[in-house]
Amino acid sequence: MENVGVYVHVPFCDRVCPYCDFAVVATRVLASEREGLYVDALLAELEERRSAFAGRRLASLYLGGGTPSLLTPASVARLVEAIRASFPAAAAEPEVTLEMNPGTLERERLPGFREAGVSRVSIGVQSFSDATLKRLGRAHAGDEARASLAAARAAGFANLSVDLILAAPGQGPAEFAADLEEALAFAPEHLSTYELTIEPGTPFALAAARGQLRRADEDAVLDMLDACEARLTAAGYRRYEISNYAKPGFEAVHNRRYWLRRPVLGLGVGAFSTDPPRVGMPHGVRRANPRDLAEYERAAARGAFDAAADVEVLTPQIARGEAVFLGLRAADGVDAARFAGEFGEPPRGFWPDAIDACRREQLLDETAAGDLKLTAAGRRLADTVFRYFV
Ligand code: SF4
Repeated sequence: MENVGVYVHVPFCDRVCPYCDFAVVATRVLASEREGLYVDALLAELEERRSAFAGRRLASLYLGGGTPSLLTPASVARLVEAIRASFPAAAAEPEVTLEMNPGTLERERLPGFREAGVSRVSIGVQSFSDATLKRLGRAHAGDEARASLAAARAAGFANLSVDLILAAPGQGPAEFAADLEEALAFAPEHLSTYELTIEPGTPFALAAARGQLRRADEDAVLDMLDACEARLTAAGYRRYEISNYAKPGFEAVHNRRYWLRRPVLGLGVGAFSTDPPRVGMPHGVRRANPRDLAEYERAAARGAFDAAADVEVLTPQIARGEAVFLGLRAADGVDAARFAGEFGEPPRGFWPDAIDACRREQLLDETAAGDLKLTAAGRRLADTVFRYFV
């Protein structure tokens, strides 16, 4: 039986960080009525949309945001129970991840989240340096991050992921190395290290345009990425995706679905779904929910989620580009036989010149069977490689 992953977007955040481009709503205090209305809407969407994924087993559930840890454990339990009741489990214990920020309130809820069925916590540490956190406009301090990691362990979570930002304003290789060492002291099973990107329309984009954002230059960023890989590899982690590292057996089940383009049912404000292929749509359908909370809840009130969503039928051209782009991000690379099974030919059949050019530059390895992987140099210049294919 095929699998499904479910993503639940919770848009509430204490405040909106100046670099954030997610679908979020600043909510200093999440009132129980507001929370209840939103959870009701999520459950209504689940009810309406689950038939598109009928007959599939639940491989993973990911509560992301926004800040899902602003929900009470009772709300998280409602969601976990309803989703698990909708799809039989693919494994004895499907992965259930909750993203949390290091706030005091959320920390106190960790035992409750565990009782609610959460098996994995992903903590948005970003940095342990108060100066870096301040420059990022984050609501927490380094001590709160430390306390949250300790509290997650104390609550019995044996699968912890830490998010760190790389190339934050004012952060150089020494500052990032210090953050990495602090994270390693907690021995998380998984680490995500994302380079800060400046998204159009954010306060950081405005500051950058005015020359007010002091950031490491490209060479320093590449040094940080190299040093990060070397340090984490030495500590027993595998870089299984460009920005993600895991101890053996702790690769994120849910995130891998995106890189392998497996169906995901996305619920909530701004959530994306990838509906499974069906007759006339062999590469599946992508849906994006409204990014506006009021619009999303109006759709819930009308029972009209389909009408409110942006729907894109994936063409062979889009699907092929994504298969290579996402496949190359993963350490396992692009499996030529799997690719040919979907598109009729291996990648070389569509991009012979691009593959040859990347191989000449030693950015790409190609096996005799046509499988593709980024080389170490290719990982440093991944965006350059991707531009050949999408
Ligand atoms: S906490 Fe995360 S989701 Fe919320 S505003 Fe900040 S960056 Fe965005």
